[in-house]
Amino acid sequence: MIRINNISVPLDFDFTKLRELCVRQLRIPDSAIKSVKLSKRSVDARKKSDVHFIISVDVAAKGEQKLLRTVKGAVPVEKFSYTIPRVEPAEMRPVIVGFGPAGMFAALVLAMAGARPVVLERGLDVDSRVEAVERFQSGGKLDTECNVQFGEGGAGTFSDGKLTTGIKDKRIRWVFEKLVEFGAPDEILYLAKPHIGTDRLRDTVKNLRRRVIELGGEVRFGAKFSGFECSGGSLSSVEYSDCGGTHSIPADNLILASGHSARDVFELLYNKKVTLTQKNFAVGVRIEHRREDIDKAMYGRFAGHPALKAADYKLVVHLPNGRTLYTFCMCPGGHVVAASSEDGRLAVNGMSCFARDAENSNSALLVNIDTSDYGSDHPLAGMYFQRSLEEKAFRAGGGDYCAPSVCYGDFAEGRVSDGFGRVSPSYRPAVRFASPDDYLPDFVCQSLRLGIPEMGKKIPGFDDRDAVLTGIESRSSSPVRINRNEDLQSVSLEGLFPCGEGAGYAGGIVSAAVDGMRCAEAVIKRIGGKYED
Ligand SMILES: Cc1cc2nc3c(=O)[nH]c(=O)nc-3n(C[C@H](O)[C@H](O)[C@H](O)COP(=O)(O)OP(=O)(O)OC[C@H]3O[C@@H](n4cnc5c(N)ncnc54)[C@H](O)[C@@H]3O)c2cc1C
Repeated sequence: MIRINNISVPLDFDFTKLRELCVRQLRIPDSAIKSVKLSKRSVDARKKSDVHFIISVDVAAKGEQKLLRTVKGAVPVEKFSYTIPRVEPAEMRPVIVGFGPAGMFAALVLAMAGARPVVLERGLDVDSRVEAVERFQSGGKLDTECNVQFGEGGAGTFSDGKLTTGIKDKRIRWVFEKLVEFGAPDEILYLAKPHIGTDRLRDTVKNLRRRVIELGGEVRFGAKFSGFECSGGSLSSVEYSDCGGTHSIPADNLILASGHSARDVFELLYNKKVTLTQKNFAVGVRIEHRREDIDKAMYGRFAGHPALKAADYKLVVHLPNGRTLYTFCMCPGGHVVAASSEDGRLAVNGMSCFARDAENSNSALLVNIDTSDYGSDHPLAGMYFQRSLEEKAFRAGGGDYCAPSVCYGDFAEGRVSDGFGRVSPSYRPAVRFASPDDYLPDFVCQSLRLGIPEMGKKIPGFDDRDAVLTGIESRSSSPVRINRNEDLQSVSLEGLFPCGEGAGYAGGIVSAAVDGMRCAEAVIKRIGGKYED
């Protein structure tokens, strides 16, 4: 099998004619081609007058060695296989805390190995969770155990479901194949910027859970990890509480994939003297524009073409105050979502459905917070700093989970808005007028004022006066690292595998899922399974 890269095709290219395209590209007869498959598709919008697709195609054909020498852009396709060894079910079952992307993929790998993992998830199954989130977003009470951060599928469930990642790892392909097997659209296998959307993700996580259970695993919802015991420096049992009381499970392997919002877990680990260190994170706001405006700015006259979805963007500006302002987790055609998980503390994030057809496009606008900004060397200082900002945002929004919101033009001039212009904020339950000056540190506000006009030079209209800034975006990454060694175990407690975003070893759905697989592999090795390197 060979891959032909960098083929330009127009937006209205008929993808059922891929075989004819290959005949032309390879200059061989149709009869010499055994199969063709689209392996990558990206949008090239660098020239607004010529927006088109760039594709890669995998071809099985006669005479591949010759074609590799003669066809420009042709490379051999690397075969990938991921095999999971079978292990004898151990007397003590591995325990996984958290059923977000990291916990789900750890559970799947362990279940496929025959290790019968037990998953503890503090939140509820996805259907009950959707109801809890809807109640909160309609003005009801925040459920601190089941919300946009906690529950089946983890923080990823109510997300944009973007599957782009900065990591390079052969496991990524397996993650994508499994997501498709469980219900994700198969276009994620070839799109350069794959995306599932919160609506399609919900069924996908449910189907993954069913497979874990079919393979002998167990998933306990409403089960909150609350402690552990050790003996001789090694883990010996895991405690959890549910509506029936407190329980203890004998366990010598625990994959802790509780995410970065489980602040009680960080405190528990700190009190138990598990080694933790500070980590940089970032804070800011969500910026919303009208989707059509962003599409026009990015695609020019091709905006609205039926083959194009809502446009995305990525921006970074280095500022004279020494800080960097950057966009993060851009959600084309999406919503700003209430992402709070603690009483009296407010957080926002972004999500979208598969169609990405909502009125606005939004993105986080973030400024890095360095550990030197925490003003303390306590390992949890970043988390306390994050909490204090969320408390300020909660008060600025009026103290009932309405979010503080302002028009960019007013913020730039140091005023609080008294009405919105062309852009209506999408946050639910509602927003109240308040400036980022009321809840963000001065250097972050200064960076927003300096940086947004610079971003407007890169994307016309980005600095539109009517763009809406809603805060606070504070949960883009973990402010804490749970340090682990080369075996992926905690440096201070054998048998504890800190995993995923909360442990500081992943950022985003795909990297968390891959880290879950790596931790599962490490547990399998520890209980006698043999992985090929
Ligand atoms: C609204 C939103 C949109 C996002 N959009 C994207 C996106 O488009 N693309 C992307 O790549 N990333 C996105 N992210 C980030 C992504 O969701 C996270 O990076 C990813 O989910 C981290 O995975 P994880 O498994 O490490 O942790 P989490 O997903 O946070 O999962 C941790 C799980 O542990 C459970 N838990 C916590 N404490 C306990 C306890 N004591 N006992 C039992 N269970 C516990 C939680 O309930 C949760 O289910 C988004 C996040 C949010 C909130």
